Amino acid sequence: DKTIHVIGGGLAGCEAAWQIAKRGLCVTLHEMRPHRQTPAHQTDGLAELVCSNSLRSDDADYNAVGLLHEELRKAGSLIMDCADRNKVPAGGALAVDRDGFSASVEQELAAHPNVTILRQEMAGLPPAEWDNVVIATGPLTSEPLAQAIRSVTGQDSLSFFDAIAPIIHKDSIDFSKAWFQSRYDKGEGSDYINCPLTKDEYYAFIDALLAGEKVPFHDWEKDVPYFEGCLPIEVMAERGRETLAYGPGKPVGLTNPYGPKPYAVIQLRQDNKLGTLYNMVGFQTKLRHGEQTRIFRTIPGLEAAEFARLGGLHRNTFVNGPRVLDQQLRLKAQPRLRLAGQITGCEGYVESTSIGFLAGLAASAQALGHDFVAPPPTSALGAILTHVTGGAHADTYQPMNINFGLFPPAPERDERGKKIKGRDRKKLYAERARADLAPWLSQL
Ligand code: FAD
Repeated sequence: DKTIHVIGGGLAGCEAAWQIAKRGLCVTLHEMRPHRQTPAHQTDGLAELVCSNSLRSDDADYNAVGLLHEELRKAGSLIMDCADRNKVPAGGALAVDRDGFSASVEQELAAHPNVTILRQEMAGLPPAEWDNVVIATGPLTSEPLAQAIRSVTGQDSLSFFDAIAPIIHKDSIDFSKAWFQSRYDKGEGSDYINCPLTKDEYYAFIDALLAGEKVPFHDWEKDVPYFEGCLPIEVMAERGRETLAYGPGKPVGLTNPYGPKPYAVIQLRQDNKLGTLYNMVGFQTKLRHGEQTRIFRTIPGLEAAEFARLGGLHRNTFVNGPRVLDQQLRLKAQPRLRLAGQITGCEGYVESTSIGFLAGLAASAQALGHDFVAPPPTSALGAILTHVTGGAHADTYQPMNINFGLFPPAPERDERGKKIKGRDRKKLYAERARADLAPWLSQL
């Protein structure tokens, strides 16, 4: 039986299964929901987005995640195709209608003759006779499997926290105070809802955040560091009273039609295609639910806000990729098992998709008796693969979003010796990636 088994029907698992099926091989996708839920998933749909509905910047010239979008599209990614088909307005970002997106992914996989979808938990190591397995069970891998992976790798998986921002019904927002505008009028110019805070209102809000009652940590959650890219707002507030005003709440590039320039703004971004739900950008929080409603309703424009979902914080399980994975994502200790997605220690929807894509290619190559050819390290796909398979230091390994810092450095000076800075240097990374990836794409 040459069937390849993919465990976990999230972003990485769906992409891996699709790549395998596309190459003419049979694949069985095992997803534990709805029989067993995770602390963050809400539906039984495949490829559910657990928090933000944004796949981040779609700018392929100046932004590393935008470049990753472009590379995945060119390589024939299912996730990117379904995201493009379910796009909602979000300025320069690629945001999707989460239900439509998940449904598209599920429909494509279910309709493919090479794909079998089984709804069952893998409650331990996959059967020994399966010799080509992709484990893509994500940051919320169920405990029996997490335990089994720990026992195979001979060391503890690491853990830290990820956070969810609240989602609000648009028709409960007061538009005599809030207004539509993107910073610097980017995109359609009006993709975000802005709620203004005066200096006094801002400080009162910070005080409320600091005093608000938080959900206590479980014993197993204590001493686990936060992920710096996704800090809860109350932790930001603890770091300094101005942190929010300079972070997600910065008032730059906005013009308040109803009053003076605000000291800080709270931004909301469209969360579904209908445009009925908006999420509070950057508002991950571990405040108690009752406290969230009370404190967020002090924000001008949100006095009567109805919440479709409140914020929260969750565990994120991942292995020490550089230590336990080989160059093609197999567990060194048990090479029949290949890891994919966030469990490898990449961070983010698109990054998880990328590692799922590459695991799918590698598993297919193994089944077909070919060598796996890795994408060049100067491409975004290559950079994220390198990060999880050895580019990062094992001793200080931390999950990472794609960024140009993961690429081999581009030249710092042009041929006349002039320093290449800022946007020009980013463009250089993108152009080099395009040139280097082209031959790899054509051999796919
Ligand atoms: P998932 O998408 O989680 O897929 C894993 C799948 O495996 C799930 O469907 C799960 O039910 C299933 N599964 C688990 N265990 C088993 C088992 N034993 N047997 C069978 N099936 C199993 N990234 C962003 O870019 N933006 C965000 O806003 C964002 N917010 C996040 C919020 C939270 C709370 C968390 C935990 C993560 C967040 N991430 C975010 C990070 C990350 O990008 C996502 O978690 C992403 O979904 C990871 O993709 P994945 O395919 O690796 O895992």
